[in-house]
Amino acid sequence: MSDSSTLKESHFSAKLLAWFDQSGRHDLPWQLDITPYRVWVSEIMLQQTQVKTVIPYFERFMQSFPNMQVLASASQDEVLGHWAGLGYYARGRNLHKAAVMIRDEFEGEFPTTFDEILSLPGIGRSTAGAILSISLGQRQAILDGNVKRVLSRYLALEGWPGEKSNEKMLWSVAELLTPDVRFNDYTQAIMDLGATLCTRSKPQCGKCPVAEYCEARQQDRVSEFPFSKPKKIKPIKTAYFLILENQQGQVLLQQRPQKGIWGGLWSFPEYPCLQSCQTEVKRAQTGTGSAQSLVEWEVFRHTFSHYHLDIHPVMFQGVRENSMQLEGEWVNKQQLCQAEVSFGVPAPISKIMTLMEK
Ligand code: SF4
Repeated sequence: MSDSSTLKESHFSAKLLAWFDQSGRHDLPWQLDITPYRVWVSEIMLQQTQVKTVIPYFERFMQSFPNMQVLASASQDEVLGHWAGLGYYARGRNLHKAAVMIRDEFEGEFPTTFDEILSLPGIGRSTAGAILSISLGQRQAILDGNVKRVLSRYLALEGWPGEKSNEKMLWSVAELLTPDVRFNDYTQAIMDLGATLCTRSKPQCGKCPVAEYCEARQQDRVSEFPFSKPKKIKPIKTAYFLILENQQGQVLLQQRPQKGIWGGLWSFPEYPCLQSCQTEVKRAQTGTGSAQSLVEWEVFRHTFSHYHLDIHPVMFQGVRENSMQLEGEWVNKQQLCQAEVSFGVPAPISKIMTLMEK
């Protein structure tokens, strides 16, 4: 990696801004009618999610929750209902929590200082910087996943960018490269560069405005950067989902605890093994039927960032109304399949519902 004297800071920002004026994206939904609220929601949705996936979610979200007051007054279930399918549900829960906090502690006005914004749930240093620079034109550096990739290549960083000392160094480079003018455009521009040219696979270096001083390009080693995280084998966990269907074609869903996977979303009752499903059905059922009628479906795998979850759906049909003593809500299958419910359901549950309908 070259030392900071060869970074050519002013060259980097000048070239990037000129490129942004010509080729950057200027008409994304959150770039129109810019407010801290809209930029905040977009930044949270864009964490770990691509722009094209986020756009329809953002537009639906803004229709239902056009401002902070409406969001703070909504229930968590309503908010998570708008998040279903976007993944990383802690983002939706934190968004709602932060809206309530802004209403109660900041008189409903989005805070305007870095430290205040950083104190809100779900907002880290880069997101706080992006909100302030894009919506209020403050000079703040950002270092999201896209920018980490761009800078790792630009510097030919010989190490995983997520490692503490590398991350610290990347932050100081990000600060150094941030120009003294046009902060909001610069923030958009560096995000755009990462999202459109300096992409994870097949970067388009031939069109890149900062190619001249890009170390990875000069060394002809672009595909080597950024270095991957040192591999850790993901553990495999198992869960049995008990699908109880009543004679009206409704299924029983339970709200999951706030902590843990899919916190606050609605899912089938979960058990660690088939035997505990059988025991639960015997214990909970006061009417007809027997646990022998449990039907096991094919197992499928859902992968989280830290582990794989092997999901075993187990079905028990024809439950008589009021015969099950389990807590939860009986929900119409068709409404669930067509996402016509006002609460959040994790993607694997939607997948099971779709299979049921086939
Ligand atoms: S030259 Fe290629 S690798 Fe370097 S910053 Fe530009 S797109 Fe990324």
